[in-house]
Amino acid sequence: MIKDDISTILGNLKSLSCKGKTVLITGGAGFLGSWLCEALLEQDARVLCFDNFASGLESNISAFNKHKNFKFFRQDVSETLHCPEKVDLAFHLASRASPFEFEKYPLEILKANTVGIVNTLEVARIHGARFIFTSTSETYGNPAVVPTPESYFGNVNSVGVRGCYDESKRCGEAYVVAYLKQYNLDVRIARIFNTYGPRMRGDDIYGRVIPRFIAQAVNNEPITVFGDGTQTRSFCYVTDQIEGILRLATIDEARGQIINIGNDEEIQILKLASIIKDLTGSRSQIVFEPLPQDDPARRRPDLTRAKQILNWKPKVNTKQGLAATIEWNQFR
Ligand code: NAD
Ligand code: UDP
Repeated sequence: MIKDDISTILGNLKSLSCKGKTVLITGGAGFLGSWLCEALLEQDARVLCFDNFASGLESNISAFNKHKNFKFFRQDVSETLHCPEKVDLAFHLASRASPFEFEKYPLEILKANTVGIVNTLEVARIHGARFIFTSTSETYGNPAVVPTPESYFGNVNSVGVRGCYDESKRCGEAYVVAYLKQYNLDVRIARIFNTYGPRMRGDDIYGRVIPRFIAQAVNNEPITVFGDGTQTRSFCYVTDQIEGILRLATIDEARGQIINIGNDEEIQILKLASIIKDLTGSRSQIVFEPLPQDDPARRRPDLTRAKQILNWKPKVNTKQGLAATIEWNQFR
């Protein structure tokens, strides 16, 4: 199933390819990182994957280990980043990304998006490589402007539970722009909105809402909606996201750009719970639990810039993406 999805991504990208390039990916054993590794290997790129399995899984990349163009380095990129080969492209994804992890590992998250990004930017600078940062819609915090364009400055609580993530991503963006200004490095920033699909974790503190709801629903356990469920998100299926990121990485006009990548189909969390309950034929009850502090009330990207510069828009609607994710969960 993932193989077919990768073929679809590459088909949509047509001539936009990293064939023959050497690509460094921090966080390559995670959800999005492993999809990127796989798509790039299929394009005949060489992939150097750096990860410390903070939230990623060995099983995400075990199939790539026998590939002649894949090399794995177990490293905390906030400590050190020794890259033994010349690279053409560097992607910085390494960062825990689940709100439950923000409470337990704030220092690791702060470091990954500040010290870790500088370590990766330095490799790119020394090698003259192009640099891509996976930032987040969380840089907007609880936005007062929805759909939110890239020009919106954000509404963030720096000392709240999400502060470690939101502020370090904002700081990471500032570092990226500083490398552009001082070293004229070829940089690009993706502001990623909630993305889901096969390989996203639903367990323990790593679990994001969609894999959590799916796991609860298929086990006929209570589906835990936080607050009254009227808060919204706009969920992007992973194939659309990976295509968007690879367009950002390969289109010349995207140099120096910050671009929202996500889906603009906005949905209330309570509605999401009931769709997943229906799609899985579950007998689960929907139960309500307290809303975490600083949980954004609405989130939906303005995709104008992505359409103009990347000639990209999402193709998979929420119901299709959820059905595919549920199917993967059943047959993996
Ligand atoms: P993930 O947790 O699956 O992947 C993160 C990867 O980074 C993991 O493999 C983890 O082990 C690794 N990592 C973390 N800290 C590290 C360190 N110090 N050194 C080496 N490796 C480290 O999460 P994901 O959803 O794949 O997210 C990937 C990137 O995309 C993150 O930067 C995240 O902030 C960003 N992002 C994701 C989403 C989303 O909805 N999935 C939304 C916005 C932004
Ligand atoms: N959420 C929920 N129940 C859960 C997990 C999450 O209602 O078991 C809500 C959460 O409060 C938020 C939304 O789902 O409003 C998305 O949560 P997620 O952790 O996926 O990421 P966020 O977009 O908040 O960073």
